[in-house]
Amino acid sequence: MANLTNLPMPLQESYDWQYEGACRGTDSAQFFSPDAERGSRRRFRESQAKLLCATCPVLEKCRDHALSAREPYGVWGGMTEQERAEVLARPTLAG
Ligand code: SF4
Repeated sequence: MANLTNLPMPLQESYDWQYEGACRGTDSAQFFSPDAERGSRRRFRESQAKLLCATCPVLEKCRDHALSAREPYGVWGGMTEQERAEVLARPTLAG
């Protein structure tokens, strides 16, 4: 489940970046794994999503949001859920 405590205030401006996403209007199934998807099929779908993210003008905002909210599923900001989990599991300088 996403962590909602680190999200910005629910002001419209806080989420305006989503209107500029390269994925806007595309099939969200490219970004989210169907049940029981594994192996090469999953890697291919994720790589295609990440290619689109690489062209996205709001990649950093999307990634920051996904990491802050601990989005549990899907490709956000060019990162898979596994990649985000690995980043979040790293020890921080703050301890
Ligand atoms: S970085 Fe990727 S998931 Fe995020 S808005 Fe852009 S295209 Fe969509």
